[in-house]
Amino acid sequence: MSSPRVLFVCHTGSISGAELVLIDLVRPWAGQSALLFEDGPLHAALSACGLNVAISRWGNGLNDVRRDSSFAKVVPVVSAMYGIVAEVARFARRHDVVYANSQKAFVLSAIAAKLVRRPLIWHLHDIISPAHFGSMQRRVQVLLANHCTARVVVPSKAAADAFIAEGGRKDLVAIVPNGLDIAPEAQSPAEIRRELNLPQGALVGVFSRLAEWKGQHVVLEALANTPGVSCIIAGSALFGEEAYEQRLRQMVRDLALGERVHFLGQRSDVPRLMRAVDAVIHPSIDPEPFGRTLVEAMLADVPVIATDAGAASDILEGGRAGTLVPPGDAVALAQAIAGVMLRSPEHVKQIEYAAARARSHYGVAQMLDATSRLIRQAAGEKA
Ligand code: UDP
Repeated sequence: MSSPRVLFVCHTGSISGAELVLIDLVRPWAGQSALLFEDGPLHAALSACGLNVAISRWGNGLNDVRRDSSFAKVVPVVSAMYGIVAEVARFARRHDVVYANSQKAFVLSAIAAKLVRRPLIWHLHDIISPAHFGSMQRRVQVLLANHCTARVVVPSKAAADAFIAEGGRKDLVAIVPNGLDIAPEAQSPAEIRRELNLPQGALVGVFSRLAEWKGQHVVLEALANTPGVSCIIAGSALFGEEAYEQRLRQMVRDLALGERVHFLGQRSDVPRLMRAVDAVIHPSIDPEPFGRTLVEAMLADVPVIATDAGAASDILEGGRAGTLVPPGDAVALAQAIAGVMLRSPEHVKQIEYAAARARSHYGVAQMLDATSRLIRQAAGEKA
């Protein structure tokens, strides 16, 4: 059959990990369409990939729906949801497959795709668990997934297991690890530090949006026990976590870390920053569905210290490609930081092993092969 017509649906216009995956994933689908529930930098990024991007007329009405919303809080936005379902349905009619890239996008696309009888793929970038979703949301997601999707794409076994544990159908699940394509950084760490005015001496980095479950506060606690080590924190409160950012800044004052901790805000040069640090820390306190930052650090030839939750253990091969510490344990994290600063021959070998593993397991080409095959299969089912 000729190339299927695909409609990508995304609830946000901001760019965090899931949207960075989408930007790579749409590469073979230039000329196809995307519908975003709100405008933002993702609009330009997808347009640059050759997609025709439309912004929902109704998306702003959804802003009150947070992941922990009770059903009662959802009721006032029902009209916006109704509007979006009608919009997705109208777009979907002109396409062969609907590809939903987020939980909100999925729930509304599921109803729309069912109405106009289009196969739906849900790219589930989350761990479906009580830590992230209320019980009503979990039930609705799984019910809709089981009845309305052609496939549920997840980035890891951890995400697949969580979906199945909540009652999701195993036969729908396709594990497609996130793929990353990052050119090696030519400049030396010292040059990058000089150019970007980064601290000299022992330096670690944390690279993710500011959110409590991402665990930046644990890093600050650990730094209180690792004198002489500075830290850059890249990322911003993308999804309404401003109070957490204030808490982090207050912690820096309370722990007298002002000289050593540098908040860099949202950055677009993460691979370069990673290359400049002595270790990348991935401190999430809840299980991660994937963790692009882990693979980025592996590709940057930098030691990785990650919490042993969710997909991190798989990506770091149980500790062979990085150091695993228990989630939320600032003492263990401080010890691990002190350990990697020694740059023992074992650590040097681990860095080499990690880079080779990232290249062989987490390339964009593998991700594109797998997702393109799933899209074509779904389109075939429609025919
Ligand atoms: N990131 C970025 N700028 C920042 C902080 C983070 O571009 O200032 C990127 C980071 O490099 C990674 C992504 O955001 O590619 C985060 O993905 P991850 O899977 O680690 O977490 P998610 O945001 O999906 O929960």
